[in-house]
Amino acid sequence: MDKNARIFVAGHRGMVGSALVRRLASAGYRNIVTRTRAHLDLTDQGGVNLFFEEEQIDVVFLAAARVGGIYANSTMPASFIYENLAIETNVIHAASRWNVPKLIFFGSSCIYPKACPQPIKEEYLLTSALEPTNEAYAIAKIAGLKMCEAYNQQYGTKFVSLMPTNLYGPNDNYDLQSSHVLPALIRKAHEAKLRGDGALEVWGSGTPCREFLHVDDLADAATFMMESDIAEGVFNVGVGRDSTIRELAQTVCRVVGFEGELAFDASKPDGTPRKLLDVSKLERMGWKASIILEDGIAATYADFLARYEGLSQTAVAA
Ligand code: GDP
Repeated sequence: MDKNARIFVAGHRGMVGSALVRRLASAGYRNIVTRTRAHLDLTDQGGVNLFFEEEQIDVVFLAAARVGGIYANSTMPASFIYENLAIETNVIHAASRWNVPKLIFFGSSCIYPKACPQPIKEEYLLTSALEPTNEAYAIAKIAGLKMCEAYNQQYGTKFVSLMPTNLYGPNDNYDLQSSHVLPALIRKAHEAKLRGDGALEVWGSGTPCREFLHVDDLADAATFMMESDIAEGVFNVGVGRDSTIRELAQTVCRVVGFEGELAFDASKPDGTPRKLLDVSKLERMGWKASIILEDGIAATYADFLARYEGLSQTAVAA
């Protein structure tokens, strides 16, 4: 692919977007286009249209989204459905209108039904009811991938959707109210170690299973998709293996060096019991994840430590 292609990474300050910018730059792409929220509000239809009219974009990575963990999703469903639908309709429609040759949309494994057979194949989408704790977010993400399919069908666009499993990595959100489990446990284990606590609080029963993908693996899969001839479809992106929340907590404690007990808080929700993706469709196309969970957690802990001072201040200010 032409290294001068104009590649718009929407959401470049987020965990996925920043990983994409790193990956594209290291692959030699020279024209990565980004906009901060102050310069381009993606929920503003007029602004998004003007941006696409002026910028002659060749590829869009639609990584901008309102994201969050189980607590944020269950307490702010309106924000999750509204902001994600607005961003998707504005960007996907404008990309089609201004003839952008390729767009890669990022969804989530929570689009699949709660009671899905495991591992989850792409064709299980919309076969039964969703997990209630993140239904609003899931509905918005399903709308996004269906928009890509509809625009491909009606306008001949080449819009592809990637459905990553639970992500982690540099630039993650460590705010304990809105974060996902992996960054939350890194922070809680680190602070428990500093305080010399006897136990680490883990939400729920510890029995739900989750699959974790390092965001650099997702950026690699997305770059692979951009460079391929694949012009449509939904593709799961994961590692093909999961662990219980208890096992995850044990791994995090080992990496962080916290030696106390685990204390499970049954008053917090478990969410869906399991969501392991079947990743064979993408593997058949030639892509496979490569970062081992414990190595990825160690690298993420190093990133957390480098940013910990700033995080502590944010938490105090909030
Ligand atoms: P989910 O994958 O959409 O359910 O989102 P999360 O990553 O927020 O939660 C995954 C699982 O980890 C759920 O069963 C949570 O109850 C559990 N969990 C355990 N401790 C924590 C924690 O400190 N924060 C979060 N967000 N989840 C936790």
